[in-house]
Amino acid sequence: MTDFAATRRAFHLPEGVTYLDGNSLGPMPLAATARAVRVLDEEWSQMLITGWNRAGWYVQPRKVGDRIARLIGAGPGEVVMGDTLSIKVFQAVSAARAMRPDRRVILSDSGNFPSDLYVAQGLARAVDAELRVVAPDEVDDAIGDDLAVLMLTEVDYRTGRRHDMQALTAKAHVSGALTVWDLAHSAGAVDVDLTGADADFAVGCTYKYLNGGPGSPAFIWTHPRHADAAQPILQGWMGHETPFAFDPNYRPAAGIERMRVGTPPVIALTVLDAALDVWEGVALADLRARSIELTQAFIAGVEADCPDVTLNSPRDPAMRGSQVGFRHPHGYAVMQALISEGVIGDFRAPDVLRFGFAPLYNDAADVDRAVATLARILRDESWNREQFHQQASVT
Ligand SMILES: *Cc1c(COP(=O)(O)O)cnc(C)c1O
Repeated sequence: MTDFAATRRAFHLPEGVTYLDGNSLGPMPLAATARAVRVLDEEWSQMLITGWNRAGWYVQPRKVGDRIARLIGAGPGEVVMGDTLSIKVFQAVSAARAMRPDRRVILSDSGNFPSDLYVAQGLARAVDAELRVVAPDEVDDAIGDDLAVLMLTEVDYRTGRRHDMQALTAKAHVSGALTVWDLAHSAGAVDVDLTGADADFAVGCTYKYLNGGPGSPAFIWTHPRHADAAQPILQGWMGHETPFAFDPNYRPAAGIERMRVGTPPVIALTVLDAALDVWEGVALADLRARSIELTQAFIAGVEADCPDVTLNSPRDPAMRGSQVGFRHPHGYAVMQALISEGVIGDFRAPDVLRFGFAPLYNDAADVDRAVATLARILRDESWNREQFHQQASVT
C-alpha cells in the first residue's frame, strides 16, 4: 500500500491552508530547496561548462523523462523533457499530421484547453489542414475517414470529464488516424496507461499534479513504433543526430531524442527531479483509488450541505479525473471568499468553482474543511462583499 501520509509530509503546505489547486500549480516538495541550492552552488558555480557532462545536465531530459514514463504507462527511453506544453503540443500534432499527409482533419473538442486549440489553428494554417472542434461527447461520432489526427486532452481542465483513451484511440486507428493525448490533468492525477491504450503521441506539463514548480518543463512521448519515423517540425540542434558536429543540415536523432529542441532548462529540471522523488513507491492503482475516494466524498458533502451550487463534473468517477467543479452564479466572489478563509481552489469562467484533489497530499480532512467552509460562506452570504468581486489579472 502506498503511504500517503508520508507523501503528504514531503510537501510544504502552508499553515492554515487547504490546498485544492494542485491541478493548476502543485505545492513545493520540501526536497526542492536543497536540490536547487546544490545545482547552483555545487554544479553551476563549481563546474561551469563542464557540468553538461560531469553533472549529467545533457542527459537530464531523458533521465527525468524515464521517471515520468512510469507514471504514464510508458517505457524507459520513450519520454523526453523540454520546452512548454504548448510547444510540445505543436511538436506532437505536427509530427502526427505529417504522417497522414493525405488527410486534412485535426479533430478536437470544445472542452480542450485554449492553448492546444490555438496551436492546432496555427498549424492548420501553416500546413493546409483543418481543425474541427466538436462537443466532448460528440468526439466518438466525429471520427471518420478524413481524420488525420485526433488531438484530445484526456481530462477536461474545466469539468474534469475524462475521455476513454483506449476506446477513442482504437476507433481512431480503425479510421486510419493517429492520436495525440494531452495529459496535463492526467499525469500524477489518474492511472494513465499509454501503452495499454496503444496511443501514438502524448504530451503533458509537470507543474500541475507532478509538482515541478512554476514553469517546469513539459514532456513528450512517442510510441516506439513511430519514434524513428516521426519528423519534428521544430527541428532544433538538440534533436540533431550529432548536435556537436554543428552540421548545417538537420538529421533527426534516433528515437524520442529528436523531439528535443534547444538547450534544456537545467535548474528547472533539477527541481522537477526532486519533486519526482516523492513518486517513488506510489502505486498508480492506489493513487486512482484515493482520488476517487476524495472526489466522491467532496461531491457528497457539498451536495448535502450546499444547496446553491450544481455539479459541473461527471458524477460517475470512471468518467472523471481528479478534480471537481461546481457552478454558482457568483462563482468568482465565492471562490475569493473561500481563498480568504484558506481554502484554495480556483475559478474558471463563466461560473465554475474548481477544486483539484491531488492524492499525493490531499486527505479527508481537506475534504471536510472545504465542504464546511463552502457551506458556511454560502449560508451567511459572506461572499457578497465588495472585496471579493474585484478581478485579479491571474486567477
Ligand atoms: C495547463 C495546460 C496547458 C498549458 O500550457 P503551457 O504551455 O505549459 O503554458 C496546455 N494545455 C492543457 C490541456 C493544459 O491543461
